[in-house]
Amino acid sequence: MERTLWSVRRTCGDEGDSLVKKSVFLNLLWSMLGFGAGVGLVFPVFARVVLDAPGALSPLFFAMCLGAGLLVGAVNYGLFSLVVSRALERLVHAMGEVNSHMAAADCKGLDCAQGLHLDDSSQDGIGQTALAFNTMLDAIATRMGRDGSVHALLERLGGLGELSDVAQAVLESLCDASSASIGLLWVEEGDELKLRASVGQDQSDELPNVLDTKLGAVTVALDRGAVHVVSPEREGLDWVSSSTPLGSLRPRAVALVPLIFQQRVVGLVLLGCSKEQPSKDVLELIDDLRSHAAAYLHTAALNQRMKELAAIDELTGVLNRRFGIKRLREEFSRSVRHGVPVSALLVDVDHFKRFNDTWGHDAGDEVLRRVARTIEGAIRAGDVLCRYGGEEFLVVAPGTGLADAARLGERLRRSVEAMQTTWQDKVLQVTMSMGVVTWPNAAASQAEELVSSADAALYRAKETGRNRLMVHHGERMLGVTQLFEELGLVG
Ligand code: GH3
Ligand code: MG
Ligand code: MG
Repeated sequence: MERTLWSVRRTCGDEGDSLVKKSVFLNLLWSMLGFGAGVGLVFPVFARVVLDAPGALSPLFFAMCLGAGLLVGAVNYGLFSLVVSRALERLVHAMGEVNSHMAAADCKGLDCAQGLHLDDSSQDGIGQTALAFNTMLDAIATRMGRDGSVHALLERLGGLGELSDVAQAVLESLCDASSASIGLLWVEEGDELKLRASVGQDQSDELPNVLDTKLGAVTVALDRGAVHVVSPEREGLDWVSSSTPLGSLRPRAVALVPLIFQQRVVGLVLLGCSKEQPSKDVLELIDDLRSHAAAYLHTAALNQRMKELAAIDELTGVLNRRFGIKRLREEFSRSVRHGVPVSALLVDVDHFKRFNDTWGHDAGDEVLRRVARTIEGAIRAGDVLCRYGGEEFLVVAPGTGLADAARLGERLRRSVEAMQTTWQDKVLQVTMSMGVVTWPNAAASQAEELVSSADAALYRAKETGRNRLMVHHGERMLGVTQLFEELGLVG
């Protein structure tokens, strides 16, 4: 019971500290007073016997010597406690600061050790205590710095779901930890490492979107599953550079950091460092961060893959109708917000029922795949293509005005017309009709209205002979030639 009470007081309260200090210092006081009294009592005998001083054994001289002995003992205690107390007070203060940093967990790097180191130049127990404290302080600061960086990364990752955001957060945190000015992160997707985030790197043509895992240094890093530091010139990584006002800057060393989760590579980070070899502390911090980052990256990549699978039409590999409409809504509201045009092109393969009846359903499937690939190859990177129905496709072209949409439609129509599909030694051909609508030329308060208008134009294209496109122009529907004549343009 007593022991429990003692340990609680010792660890939890100021009272405990003073209790321990008081008892040590009180012992010291009693020892010094005892020693002083002893000397005071022995001295008269010494004076009488050795120095032959008459009257040395008188009670008055005894009392004077005893008093002087006690006084010297008390002064000694005072001086000692003054000197030692100061050193102890500094130690206690520094420990208190470390305690409060640990309690608040607000230590970043070695910052919290700044100004807390004690003078350890004294060649005695006090100096050794100070030295031991300083060493412990550095170890705690390093550990807390590492924990702080990991904690900050986890906190940031906790609020993110998109793969690109997670990749960027992981990369920035690793760049921060290693003071790297250049960072690149590739994520494993379908047996390839695809670039998903970059910091500071020149966006040159050489920057590989898919990382070559046969590259010596990359293979070594992935095989070992450990951070591999190399010289960029010697390892074929001389394209790693950042542009500064003074020109292109190349790092002195490149650290390749594999991100491994459940013994599987989920990504690889490249860090361009200005020092030839990152310090041991930095490498340890990178190790701490990468193990946590890999788990988050794996989950985000999995979510992304699931989302992609849910959005893709199985036969043609383009977006399905649900996600196509979702993208149309997004693009429509963005266009309305920024006041830029958006066009929708609804495409339908002509007489496809007859085609199936003639050549069979499998040939029809193959033609649909080819049509999708042909349209995909002819639209711009920011355009959206979805399979809207059986043999119908929807193209959304953000930022494309009426005339350009008509030109795009005509280009698509011609490409499909020229498309030849070889099927069981036969060359098959199809044509398609199209309805084109552009906001704001055609009024629409929501995205779905654009599709209805495009559908009406498509219907007219079918009615007027197929293998053509009809464009909404105000209240009317015009063929391409008519439209360009009205607009005074050349097709
Ligand atoms: P129109 O020129 O008026 O569009 O005539 P159409 O025959 O193309 O139109 P209709 O709507 O009568 O027929 C559409 C055909 O598309 C019927 C259907 O068998 C075919 N189709 C729809 N989805 C698929 C598919 O996934 N694969 C194949 N092979 N055919 C499909
Ligand atoms: Mg149809
Ligand atoms: Mg059709």
